[in-house]
Amino acid sequence: MANYDLLLLPGDGIGPEVMGEVEGVVDWLNGQTQNSFNVETALVGGAAIDADGVPVTDETMDKAMQADAIVLGAVGGPKWDGVAFDIRPEAGLLRLRKDLDLFANLRPAICYPALADASSLKRELVEGLDIMIVRELTGGTYFGEPKEITEQGEGHKRAVDTTVYTTPEIERIVRVACDLARKRGKKVHSAEKRNVMHTGVLWNEVADRIFKEEYSDLECHHILADNCAMQLIRNPKQFDVLVTDNLFGDMLSDEAAMMTGSLGMLPSASLGAEEAGTRKSLYEPVHGSAPDITGKGLANPIATIASFGMSLRYSFDMGDAADIVDTAIANVLESGLRTADIMQDGMKQVSTKDMGAAIRAEMGKLAA
Ligand code: NAD
Repeated sequence: MANYDLLLLPGDGIGPEVMGEVEGVVDWLNGQTQNSFNVETALVGGAAIDADGVPVTDETMDKAMQADAIVLGAVGGPKWDGVAFDIRPEAGLLRLRKDLDLFANLRPAICYPALADASSLKRELVEGLDIMIVRELTGGTYFGEPKEITEQGEGHKRAVDTTVYTTPEIERIVRVACDLARKRGKKVHSAEKRNVMHTGVLWNEVADRIFKEEYSDLECHHILADNCAMQLIRNPKQFDVLVTDNLFGDMLSDEAAMMTGSLGMLPSASLGAEEAGTRKSLYEPVHGSAPDITGKGLANPIATIASFGMSLRYSFDMGDAADIVDTAIANVLESGLRTADIMQDGMKQVSTKDMGAAIRAEMGKLAA
């Protein structure tokens, strides 16, 4: 029996609406399982700017450092378009990722059978799809220095982004991917561009050593990132866990995600280094604050509920409870309930709250 500290950061726009449904799931678990969650809620993004003048306060950062896991809704919206760049809503999220050193971004691409027809690929290619993309999140092209635009004279400019990776950065992300594969389909693909980039050569060399020395029980492959993009469309079910750098991961995870339907369905996790058996972790839906549908009861809460489900699996070692959440989502979709974003002919459209309530009711049946 354990007692966990969970920090909820609903944020802006539809963030508080979808987070309300996560709170319902946490309440349900508190009444059902041996473990219990102490829930604290704090402001982030535009809501924090309005209250405190900054997108995340030091006090909230302290809470984030202490928490066993964080679940975030979404930040941003037109209301804060004019604020200074360094205190814009997204800066709160970036500070959380940076200060907690969340270097591993996990993006599952799961195709629920009930939604297979919503994919842009044929049903037989995506039905039952379950890929985990592991993207390096704190290095590579988005952070390497120099990163600048310089004047060249005569109206010309020169822009530079630098791609940098070190051996320890590659080792730790490859290990995260391999540890996940051990708990899943036991297969890993590492994607890089060793044919044209030095970082690709090093990535390939380090990944290969880790595969051979530490994970000989897994089926490990190297794949060029451009071929990987093609294979994801040609035969996505050949992949189990796919590990790649920050830039390629940004593209490949969006590509894989779109095979599965709506933005409102996509969860994610960002994990830090393991220390004394625990690691810092932030769980959030892939979508933003959706100002166009805020306050209308139209938001799909599944991405955020599934993000909390990932925390049960990866932060709280509550795999059985995570399975209940995932199966409840699949069953509710199978029963024909849909929020507006995933509505199909012959199905029943429900509100954010009704979808959350249906998932909790299904969890109750599964746990009985
Ligand atoms: P968005 O993801 O908020 O919305 C894109 C479209 O998807 C909209 O039509 C929206 O209604 C729909 N959508 C998104 N989530 C949905 C859900 N759960 N249910 C139903 N429909 C959903 O992206 P955007 O419109 O480009 O950005 C809006 C704001 O969100 C901007 O301020 C942007 O900076 C911010 N943003 C934040 C994050 C984050 O917090 N991680 C991510 C992306 C964008």
